[in-house]
Amino acid sequence: MADFHQKINMSEKRTELSTIGEFGLIERISAQTVHYQSGTQLGIGDDAAVLEIPQGEQLLVSTDMLAEGIHFDLGFTPLHLLGYKAVAVNLSDIAAMNAIPRQIVISLALSNRFSIEAIDALYLGINQACKEYNVDLVGGDTTTSRAGLIISITALGSQVPEKIVKRSGAKVGDLICVSGDLGAAYMGLQILSREKKVFEVDPDMQPELKEDHAYLIQRQLKAEARTDIVHELAEIGVVPNAMIDISDGLASELLHIAKSSNVGIQIFEDKLPIENLTRLAASDFGLSPITCALNGGEDYELLFTVPQSDFEKVKKMEDVSIIGVIREAASGKKLVLRSDQVIEITAQGWTHF
Ligand code: ADP
Ligand code: MG
Repeated sequence: MADFHQKINMSEKRTELSTIGEFGLIERISAQTVHYQSGTQLGIGDDAAVLEIPQGEQLLVSTDMLAEGIHFDLGFTPLHLLGYKAVAVNLSDIAAMNAIPRQIVISLALSNRFSIEAIDALYLGINQACKEYNVDLVGGDTTTSRAGLIISITALGSQVPEKIVKRSGAKVGDLICVSGDLGAAYMGLQILSREKKVFEVDPDMQPELKEDHAYLIQRQLKAEARTDIVHELAEIGVVPNAMIDISDGLASELLHIAKSSNVGIQIFEDKLPIENLTRLAASDFGLSPITCALNGGEDYELLFTVPQSDFEKVKKMEDVSIIGVIREAASGKKLVLRSDQVIEITAQGWTHF
């Protein structure tokens, strides 16, 4: 965690990209690339990559674009963590289909503000994520940008058709499950934004990042894809009826499942997995921890529904909470509070009756 506590300071050394040019940069990226997948027949270096998917499996493709100033702030995001996160959030989409991520391609738009050392830091994180998730970087594109940095990643995965899980398969009576904990990444962002403001007012002031905040900041800066949950589900023989990853907040993703599956939702406040650190930070900022969990976003946890017959199996999953039940569409989308009061789940927040 030590790196989160230091003032973010890009590498001292600065070598202009123009000294090696686009081809030099691609060679540099290629030299650092390691393959883990036997299906990768040809990676970076030709006009296209050549890939093989396991027999009987279908190919899954997902893409995401991250723009500086919109999706990330280089004022408090170290480039290696940005690289790691950019890969992880894409793999999260493949995991959300209950599929195994296998390859990625990366397109970059760079301004001359970025040195070779900065690109090295970005790819250090990208390669670290590839290693962590057993995924191969097999190509990409590089172009110049007038201003900010843009990273576009396409992830490829595969799975047998019977195990591919969509948003549309939830059935009345299904248990609603979520991995990990919610709201922490949002609180991490609040803390980073606050410290950055202090920093802008007084450049000599070091951002004050308390040890307590380390977990929250890590959840914001170093997102992880829950591919481990996909493997665990396979091991215990559970194929969810519906699944989605939580990028925009639990509420929004629940509404996606409800709409795609044409069902209602009932979740319970006392079942929501919210860390104590998240609760404490929320109260510091005068926010409700429930709002953070429902609408915070960037948790990259998996939200899935399973038939009640899988209850015993899912109950044993260490990092999974059962938070509610799928109801008939006519019963609406509801959050039951500890007080027994019932609240309508909305994407923008939550409104009392
Ligand atoms: P082309 O002119 O055919 O588009 P490029 O010169 O753009 O070829 O790319 C050469 C090789 O380098 C290709 O294999 C491409 O996939 C790979 N590549 C280009 N940019 C990147 C990048 N930013 N990250 C990873 N691979 C890249
Ligand atoms: Mg190209």
